[in-house]
Amino acid sequence: MSSNYTIRTQSPEETASFAEKLASFLHAGDVLTLEGDLGAGKTTFTKGLAKGLGVKRTVNSPTFTIVKEYEGRLPLYHLDVYRLEDSDEDIGFDEYFHGDGVSVVEWAHFIAPYLPTRRLDIRLSYNGETERKIELSPLGEDFERVCEELMK
Ligand code: ADP
Ligand code: MG
Repeated sequence: MSSNYTIRTQSPEETASFAEKLASFLHAGDVLTLEGDLGAGKTTFTKGLAKGLGVKRTVNSPTFTIVKEYEGRLPLYHLDVYRLEDSDEDIGFDEYFHGDGVSVVEWAHFIAPYLPTRRLDIRLSYNGETERKIELSPLGEDFERVCEELMK
């Protein structure tokens, strides 16, 4: 069983800066999944992560495309696989998951068979108007270490 790491943030800025700090521990080929209801903070989190990866462009939810790529110190591949709910379509996930950047996957459970076993699962939940709970579930030793460093 992997251990869980939980933090609570009190503002969008705090969520973004937590994600920005997480970015500093990431490498090419790292995969993060992001789950959480509408308004939980997935986009806020991803914007912070992008900043930490050195992305200059503005990150928005990839509502009409499945994947958006952003150049940075490390590229960011932002995937929203919601529209793949009822298909087993492989749109070439490995190119992203084993690519030169960091992948962030929203609605990742829709593509469970394609997810790498080594990844960081992140769940955001609403906890009142300005509080959010962020739960990290590292899968694999590397992400266990990342979580330990991040919580220091
Ligand atoms: P999602 O992409 O999951 O739908 P967004 O990031 O687009 O969520 O929206 C989160 C909303 O919640 C924003 O309006 C943001 O200002 C607000 N918010 C309030 N408190 C927080 C917090 N602690 N962390 C993140 N977002 C927060
Ligand atoms: Mg969003």
